[in-house]
Amino acid sequence: MTSCSIGPLLHEGKAKRVHATDHTDLVAVHFKDDTTAFNAAKKASLAGKGQLNCRIAALLFEHLERQGIASHYRGLMGDDWMICQHLRVIPLEVVVRNRAAGSLCRQMPIAEGTPLDPPLLDLYYKDDAYGDPFLSEARLTRLAIVSADQLEEIQQLALAVNQSLGQLFTSVGLELVDFKIEIGLTAAGQLLLADEISPDTCRLWDQAVADQRDRILDKDRFRQDLGGVLEAYREVLKRVQGVCPEPRVYG
Ligand code: UDP
Repeated sequence: MTSCSIGPLLHEGKAKRVHATDHTDLVAVHFKDDTTAFNAAKKASLAGKGQLNCRIAALLFEHLERQGIASHYRGLMGDDWMICQHLRVIPLEVVVRNRAAGSLCRQMPIAEGTPLDPPLLDLYYKDDAYGDPFLSEARLTRLAIVSADQLEEIQQLALAVNQSLGQLFTSVGLELVDFKIEIGLTAAGQLLLADEISPDTCRLWDQAVADQRDRILDKDRFRQDLGGVLEAYREVLKRVQGVCPEPRVYG
């Protein structure tokens, strides 16, 4: 593995910046301290959030890799940069829910915390201009952003991620309530897990805490103005790194 130098900015998202590198097949992803909610209607900068999410995502991607679930992640570079395979990201947000929370409870008569067994898999069209709308399979077919075979593969991948991360989090006293993943395509047409998996993109509840607010260890602390956002992310990191090997450094 050779080292990598950072090139021009290719894309800036709400929580990350993606830069070209001197390797055409690799990008450098910078995790920002910025945090947003409600389609960026609510914003803040939380010093150190980028480093926490970068490290948590590295640990989770490496855990998934050991279980045979490949992602774009190649290794860490410094505290808040990750080297990743360059992908064409599919404009889909794939959400898996093990308990009802968030938008599900706002859109349906279902109480927060209701167990969902089997897990519910929801697809959203990733486009801020449209507010990331919920997609039916018929709408997805009409959009033609993935084939029927790719959709099947994406659904299996999301459920495999749920199984693997659910077990990991349970082993450290956390419940994986729900999460969102994104998927990209390599030049060779392989589907890979992309983006990040972190407390920004998962709901994680402390299994030992009964209080409905105190148990929250994810971005809902920011969404709901509960305070202690960084403390919660630090707790997630501490627990996950307690059961995972040190993440690798690229190069
Ligand atoms: N999520 C995300 N990015 C989004 C929307 C949702 O990472 O743009 C995550 C969110 O953190 C939660 C899961 O996907 O873990 C389900 O989110 P939900 O649909 O309930 O929406 P929310 O309540 O976050 O608006």
